[in-house]
Amino acid sequence: MKHCPRCHAGRLVEIALNVGERKVRMQSCSRCDTRWWDSDGEHLPLPGVLDLAAARR
Ligand SMILES: [Zn+2]
Repeated sequence: MKHCPRCHAGRLVEIALNVGERKVRMQSCSRCDTRWWDSDGEHLPLPGVLDLAAARR
């Protein structure tokens, strides 16, 4: 089970989506409202996600 990196709560909301050719998961903590993204188990900074989205045209 995953935990929030900030508050260590275990209640996360996961939303999977495809950005360009990659599968990306947005994870959001329902306690402290931290959001982060990962792709293939790799942490993805938000600017990287936006780059992937921008590349898809
Ligand atoms: Zn949290």
